[in-house]
Amino acid sequence: MGENRYDVIVVGARCAGSPVAMLLATAGHRVLLVDRATFPSDTMSTHLVHPPGVTALRRWGLLDRVVATGCPPIDTYAFDFGPFTLTGSPGTADSPVAHSPRRTVLDKILLDAAADAGAEVREGFTVAGLLVDDGRVTGIRGRAKGGATVTERARAVIGADGRHSLVARTVRPDQYHEKPKLQCSYYTYWSGLPMHGRYEVYLRLPRAFAAWPTNDDLTLVIGGWPYSEFDTNKRDIEGNYLANIELVPDFAERIRGATRAERLVGTAVPNFFRKPYGPGWALVGDAGYHKDFVTAQGIHDAFRDAELCAAALDQALTGARSFDEAMAGYQSTRDEQVLPIYEFTTQLATLEPPPPDLQRLLAAAHGNQDAMDGFARVNAGVTSPAEYFSDDNVARILAVAESTQASYQ
Ligand SMILES: Cc1cc2nc3c(=O)[nH]c(=O)nc-3n(C[C@H](O)[C@H](O)[C@H](O)COP(=O)(O)OP(=O)(O)OC[C@H]3O[C@@H](n4cnc5c(N)ncnc54)[C@H](O)[C@@H]3O)c2cc1C
Repeated sequence: MGENRYDVIVVGARCAGSPVAMLLATAGHRVLLVDRATFPSDTMSTHLVHPPGVTALRRWGLLDRVVATGCPPIDTYAFDFGPFTLTGSPGTADSPVAHSPRRTVLDKILLDAAADAGAEVREGFTVAGLLVDDGRVTGIRGRAKGGATVTERARAVIGADGRHSLVARTVRPDQYHEKPKLQCSYYTYWSGLPMHGRYEVYLRLPRAFAAWPTNDDLTLVIGGWPYSEFDTNKRDIEGNYLANIELVPDFAERIRGATRAERLVGTAVPNFFRKPYGPGWALVGDAGYHKDFVTAQGIHDAFRDAELCAAALDQALTGARSFDEAMAGYQSTRDEQVLPIYEFTTQLATLEPPPPDLQRLLAAAHGNQDAMDGFARVNAGVTSPAEYFSDDNVARILAVAESTQASYQ
């Protein structure tokens, strides 16, 4: 242990890796943070950061830097189901808005914050394998671009290396709550398509699309269809993307006046949880818990993992608790917090019509501002679906709808 140059090596330096490195370095641990990318670097993501993620950025003293890049606040979420639209506030009084910073912007700010906190950062460094002694991960093997292979040792290696995680592939953790790919979506950016602080979602199931503002006065528009149509539609992604938009004539009219600024990109992703720790290793972000991006939870989930994992590892490294005990707490807190939104997300990602009970509830919520705010907050990861769809809350929403209807008769 005494020979380790580092307490922790973090593989991957984006939404999960840089914050966990920053927090551990701030706590006084010797941290090496590596990524094969060099920053600023883009990655496939529509980068909507709901209010809980914005709150984390503020907690870390980074929100001002993000806002200063010119990505506008988003204070209204509107879900257009066709017959009606639920329009609400996604946040709370303390944290009322979302932002959607480009990943070139966000990830660079996070990486710099890790370096400022004292983490040693190596960009352009690819990890090729883990060092394992007696079943315990003890370090990494990798190399900088054009450099010789080196090994580095640490008391713990954190895989923050995304959904194709090399760390996870090596340690082969238990995987659970698995679901297949459910939908695929493609996105690009448009200029001349003002959104006035709105995140707009249009559901014309089994098709859907959404739009919101980002840096450089651009608007991101993403459209998708069920995964069962993936093979057929990939022959004409652009045609299908535009056909989605034509399902909503008003929006189609708005986009006709806009100019496409970038190429279309997109994908479909699987859904799973992984046990996020074992001897000498931990997983954060997509490497440990991955889900469809239809509800845009990945970035704030990565932030939360970073905080939970850093707190647990700090306890283990300082001897306040055993590694297993501290990390079991990380896993159970993560799972408990995300399971309801995981179920909601994977249901929505089927792009099937909601079950009749839910249809009735959504229709009843229409026009009831508290209920519409609540629905926006469920999608924003602020209110748990378990709370919103609880018998009591559903009864409350239905009762208001009935009384309102009665007063109109
Ligand atoms: C199409 C799409 C749209 C999305 N939209 C949203 C959204 O709007 N809002 C939201 O919150 N989430 C969204 N997500 C999810 C979000 O992008 C992810 O949850 C988030 O990026 C996870 O962060 P991460 O740090 O765990 O992993 P990643 O962002 O994947 O970063 C992993 C890093 O690890 C590095 N790495 C990997 N292997 C190695 C190696 N061997 N050696 C060195 N470095 C390595 C990579 O270079 C990379 O930089 C979307 C995802 C997709 C696919």
